[in-house]
Amino acid sequence: MEYIFVGDTGLLRLVKAEWKGYCIRSVADIEYWIKKTNQKPDGNSEITATFIIDLEYSLLINDRHSEHVVCAAGENVLSAGEITFELDKNKSYLISQITNQSTGYCPSPKSWSAVKYTLEKVGIPFSDFFTVSFEFRICSTCGWINVIKDNYFVCINSECQNPLSAHEN
Ligand SMILES: [Zn+2]
Repeated sequence: MEYIFVGDTGLLRLVKAEWKGYCIRSVADIEYWIKKTNQKPDGNSEITATFIIDLEYSLLINDRHSEHVVCAAGENVLSAGEITFELDKNKSYLISQITNQSTGYCPSPKSWSAVKYTLEKVGIPFSDFFTVSFEFRICSTCGWINVIKDNYFVCINSECQNPLSAHEN
């Protein structure tokens, strides 16, 4: 399933060809990107990036502080979220965390199938599913993008508070 950008349209002004995500086809591409963009591992020897899966099942990543829609160059995606690389004791990279956290695209947890297919092509160890997965609902009354927690299906906008659909929209 394809996801269109549903976030703040003001962000579309940031979309530029040269800021599109870096395409990862192999572990060597990850190593190159880390060097090229001068990423520094955190205290857990981890590096987190923004990612999207494009419509050709390619993994594109950018600095974690950049927007998904910029990473995708404004295009539709098959999934989006945050991805964390960790250097294991044998000095090879694995994916220690991956989420579908993107309020720009609100990808379903079901988008995992596209993520899995893409990561298998890259050839890097990864988890059985999103390490943290989010459910998004766009309020049909006010348009607010809600992140569902604890099965609480009520719009978080204090001026709205209308019920949200239990089904994905
Ligand atoms: Zn609402």
